[in-house]
Amino acid sequence: MLSKLKNIDGKPILSKKSNNENINRKRSIDSDDDNEDEVEVRIKKSTEKKARQRVPEDESKKNHNGDGKRENHRREKRARLDSTLNQDVKLILPKPVNTNPASIPERKKFIERIAQILVKKNPDLKQPKAQAIEIEFEIAQKSTFRTYASTLRNAVYKLQHPEKFEKNNDAQLKTKEEELRILRSMVIPVTKLEKYGFVMKIPPKEVNESLTRECRRCGTVFKLDQQLEPTTCIFHHGKLRRQPGTKIKFYDCCRAPEDDNKPCDESKHHVFQISKPEEKQAVLPYTLTKEIFQDKAQYNVLGIDCEMGFTTKGFELMRITAVDYFTEKTVLDTYVLPYGEVVDLNTRYSGISQINADFVSYNQALQELGAIMDKDTILIGHGLENDMNAMRLIHEQIIDTSILYPKFETSPTFRWSLKDLTFKYLSKNIQIGEHDSAEDSVAAIQIVKYHVKKGNSP
Ligand SMILES: [Zn+2]
Ligand SMILES: [Zn+2]
Repeated sequence: MLSKLKNIDGKPILSKKSNNENINRKRSIDSDDDNEDEVEVRIKKSTEKKARQRVPEDESKKNHNGDGKRENHRREKRARLDSTLNQDVKLILPKPVNTNPASIPERKKFIERIAQILVKKNPDLKQPKAQAIEIEFEIAQKSTFRTYASTLRNAVYKLQHPEKFEKNNDAQLKTKEEELRILRSMVIPVTKLEKYGFVMKIPPKEVNESLTRECRRCGTVFKLDQQLEPTTCIFHHGKLRRQPGTKIKFYDCCRAPEDDNKPCDESKHHVFQISKPEEKQAVLPYTLTKEIFQDKAQYNVLGIDCEMGFTTKGFELMRITAVDYFTEKTVLDTYVLPYGEVVDLNTRYSGISQINADFVSYNQALQELGAIMDKDTILIGHGLENDMNAMRLIHEQIIDTSILYPKFETSPTFRWSLKDLTFKYLSKNIQIGEHDSAEDSVAAIQIVKYHVKKGNSP
């Protein structure tokens, strides 16, 4: 019950509704209805009680009983109440809003109700109606015709029972532990992580002796020792996506079809990426966080995102960003020098346009990471296996939004993009401009929070 009441607040409910409009419509609306029903029952009960207290006949009967003192007191109170109301605005006129959330009579009804509650709480209040108009206006401004009534009912309930919401604050203090417990239950089992490309055991070394590599962008086979000599690599920088409901695939950079032979982007160098963990191990070895990050660190849950660029050693780590789950503040943003020589900084996606004095060695970056996380810190991210592989870290406490949600719709070959999920769950558009590390981490964190709050932990 308490957890439900937590949502009885204009803001969360509004944002929830706007999410509903995009997805999960049925499920969320159902739970909203539950919510409203409960509140409605409570409001009804309290209005009944109020009605019983206010019946004037009761008062006149009491007069006959000779309970004069009590009656005088009541009369005084009523007179004071009336005079308070008299000082107020004469007419209840809802302030105009653009969203047209409700009819004027409906809005007036709520304003009257709010004014009554305000006076009851504080009989000396000078302008309850004027205040009520403001309170209603605040909500009306942010409401649509779908959310208005329930938000107002909730606000009325909150005004009538402020004590219940004070208690809630205590509950909220406890929720950090509770939230952590739910998050622990959402950590993905090691066997599942392995299926999705996470390296979970230190692989044996395997040196790639071949003198050539295949370009990841255009497919050309090129000589490794000529990689830094300028050439022409033409490609689509976007991903191949399937047109929903069809078998047609197109590039999301320029919407060209799969068999298009006029790629939209061009570069001076071919690039490659090592996919085999054994080959990665030969270039830069993996490390287990439970061996190097044993000391308890400050953060229990972090959003992690890395940026990579192409070098003569493949697709290498160049930046690590960590965001605290609870505050959503960036707690680490470190640039990492790659081992190989830079071929292409992948600026469009990495946001890195040059290597400068801010860059630290890989070992230094691990030191910095170890200062904020330990082996038990839960790492949240989207397609986190790429980041973990780039960092060459093996870590068991992982929540990956591309694997977790929706529960039954992902497979190792199909996963939702962070952009899709963010739109789906948070109704936000991200990654419109250049890729931003912190923004992606915050988006992944917010998606996880959304599910934690809804109690949808798998
Ligand atoms: Zn393209
Ligand atoms: Zn190429």
